[in-house]
Order: sequence, then structure tokens, then C-alpha cells
Amino acid sequence: MTALHRSQQQQVLVLGGGLMGLAVAHGLARHGGSVRLLRRARRDAAGFAAAGMAAPHAESLGGSLLALAQRSLRMIPAWVGAIEEDSGLPCGWLPCGTVVPFTSEAQRQAFPTAAAGRPLERADLEAEVPGISPAFTCGLLFPQDGQLDSRRQLMAALEQACRRRGVLFEEEVTVERLCWEEDGSGRKHLVGITRRTSDGKRLWLPCGQAVLCCGAWSHKLIPQVPVAPIKGQMFSVQAPRQALRRVLFGPGAYLVPRQDGLVVVGATSEQVGFTPGLTPMGQTRLERSLRELLPAATRWPPMERWYGFRPCTRDQQPVLGPGPLAGLVMATGHHRNGVLLAAVTAELTRAVLDSGAAGLPNIPWATPFLHAFRWNRFSPASAQDSVRQD
Ligand SMILES: Cc1cc2nc3c(=O)[nH]c(=O)nc-3n(C[C@H](O)[C@H](O)[C@H](O)COP(=O)(O)OP(=O)(O)OC[C@H]3O[C@@H](n4cnc5c(N)ncnc54)[C@H](O)[C@@H]3O)c2cc1C
Repeated sequence: MTALHRSQQQQVLVLGGGLMGLAVAHGLARHGGSVRLLRRARRDAAGFAAAGMAAPHAESLGGSLLALAQRSLRMIPAWVGAIEEDSGLPCGWLPCGTVVPFTSEAQRQAFPTAAAGRPLERADLEAEVPGISPAFTCGLLFPQDGQLDSRRQLMAALEQACRRRGVLFEEEVTVERLCWEEDGSGRKHLVGITRRTSDGKRLWLPCGQAVLCCGAWSHKLIPQVPVAPIKGQMFSVQAPRQALRRVLFGPGAYLVPRQDGLVVVGATSEQVGFTPGLTPMGQTRLERSLRELLPAATRWPPMERWYGFRPCTRDQQPVLGPGPLAGLVMATGHHRNGVLLAAVTAELTRAVLDSGAAGLPNIPWATPFLHAFRWNRFSPASAQDSVRQD
């Protein structure tokens, strides 16, 4: 089924309107699809908390996840171009490269993605990151890595691009249940959802196609897909412009310099469920890591502090492609790399929806990823049985 054919036949519901929901909705709408996006709360999306690094090499990704991430990284310039064209707003894409510093040569050699980086000796490290602590004797530069200003620019640009492409937004609605019917062969098909509005009304919405993009909250709708929240706290400081030109990916903290001199410092990684708020311990730990990495940065004035919840699966890899119900596509569990993976997730999701009843797109590049990131890799036996049903 082509995108045009699909759009004439049925609307796609995008469940959740954080980074993935917006990226998927935009990708579909830009190719002629009819899309309705439902989200509970705009500001609780991790997309508004992310540092925005697009840094698969500094993040030491491996296997299929590295391949997916490298593909997404290559797609980002064109993807950003499309969003900026549709929205008229910048996304803050900066192919600034990432520096990973080490305290010994042995550490550098053991770094999983070392082969993709350019070795830096102490003098090179100082040239790349003026003022870096003398504890760091060498490093790796990954010039291919970059960053997007997800918090201040990308999310707003995606929202505007979606609106201009005709995506319908339903705000402050919680999707409560996915509803299905079984066909003669025992296969379960999505037939609709129920949603609760902010004034407590419970409403039914029929649909044959939906994309699950509920981030850290996804398990509430699909309990057999183990997505849990990992809280991340951050803060920002205002540096002189160009004081830092590369992302600095240190052992206890990373620094992400925006073009206007704002430097985002992150991030804690806490298994505390959805406990809200900043903590003195989390913030102090980040400040100490900053001091140990780049002592001069402690003199830069503090700006903002915030936190968000990363959607993390048991193997810390995303869940993509056809879901437990026919008609339901998964786009969740992106954990620390959702900004990096948004471009390829939007593309992959559109390919799956375009493949229609066949279930899997006939695109050679997509097939290995759909296998690696399938929803039922965690507990194949439980298959369709625990989708919440009215
Ligand atoms: C501190 C921090 C730093 C990060 N840094 C980076 C980084 O440098 N690089 C990178 O690539 N990634 C980074 N990430 C990860 C990235 O932000 C996430 O992977 C990504 O935002 C996940 O997108 P999502 O759409 O799945 O979830 P979210 O952006 O969290 O959006 C989920 C949305 O779904 C809505 N929702 C949930 N349940 C329902 C429901 N039942 N009904 C309706 N709506 C619902 C929520 O209200 C929310 O708006 C970071 C994350 C954090 C928290």
C-alpha cells in the first residue's frame, strides 16, 4: 500500500507526542499521510530534556544499534532540512564533533569505537578543548558526531512542521487502552483506542493503524514490552562564545556547547521510577564531574536546571516495527539516544506503515533492524496476551 493509497483509506494515530511521536507524525504527513497525534502532556517529553548529542561513537554503541545510529547520523542533515523547510524554524543542528578524553593510553585503546576516532595526544587535546584538566593525557576525536538543540529548537520546529503539514493535535488526552478484534485465524487486529480527556471524559476512537510513541510510559499500554524510566538531571552554564567548540564526553559528565555559548551539562542516570524533581546529590555529582573535567567551566554563570525520563528497555535498545497487534507499530525505548535515532525511526516507521497488510517492508536496509529491534525479543512466549483490552 503506498502512502497516498493509505492516506485515502485511513488516518494513522500517533500515540504520544514527544520526540518520536512528532518525528513519526511529520514523516508521515510530509509524504501525504493523514495523521492525528494524541499526547497527555507536552512538557513531560524527554525531548525537552535531552542534551541532543548525536554521538554514536562517544556513546560506545555496538552491533545493530551502532549500525542503526550511524545510518540515522547520516540522515540527520537532510531530515533537519525537511523540518526546517516545513516549519521555517531552526533545529540547532551542529556537526561539531565529540572529544572523549582518557587518563591513560590503555583506556583509549580499550574504547569500543576507538577505530572510528582520530587519536589526540595531550597537546592536541588542549588545542581541541582549551582548559581541559591535566588529568587527561590523551583522547579521541569523533568528527562525524554532532548535536541538535532538542530542548530549545528541534521540538518546537517539529511541532510547527507537523502543524503546517496538517497533523491534527489532540492535547491533554491520555490514551488508556488499545482495543482489538480477533480474525478467523486468531490474529488480533487493532480496531481503536480509548482516551481520557483532561476533564475526565472517556472517549472511544476507532482506528486501524497506530504508532506507539509513549516514551517512558509505553509499558502502561503494552505491559509485555519492558520500558522503564531512567531519570536524568542536567544543568546549563553560560560560557563565552567559542570557549568550547566540540562536545566533551567525559567520564562523569558531558558538556554540549550550543552556538550561543550556552553549555549543557549532563546527566545523571537514576532508577527512581517517575519520582519528579531535582536532587542536591544529583546536581552536586554533576558539578563535581564538571570541575574534574574542565575546571574553568566552574566560573561560568549557571543558567537552568532540569530533568527528564529516558525510556529504557531491558537491553537498553529501542523497540521498532510491527507490534503485538496487526496495525500497531512500535517506536519506543530509545533510552539515551532518541535524538540521534529520531530520523531513522521516522523513516523505518513510515516504511512499515506503507507496507500495509504484508507487515514488513520490502526494503533490504530495514529488514535486519526490524529483526534486531522487534517488540517480542524480551519474552516471545507472552506474544499477544497482555495487551490491555477493554
Ligand atoms: C536528561 C536526558 C538527556 C538526554 N540526552 C540525549 C542526547 O544527548 N542524545 C540523544 O540522542 N538522546 C538523549 N536523550 C534521550 C531522548 O531524549 C529520548 O530517547 C527521546 O526523547 C524519547 O522520545 P519519546 O518520544 O520516545 O519519549 P518522550 O519524548 O518522553 O515523549 C513521550 C510522550 O508521550 C506522552 N504520553 C505518554 N503516555 C501517554 C499516553 N498514555 N497517552 C498520551 N500521551 C502519552 C508523554 O506525555 C510524552 O509527551 C536524553 C534524555 C534525557 C532525559
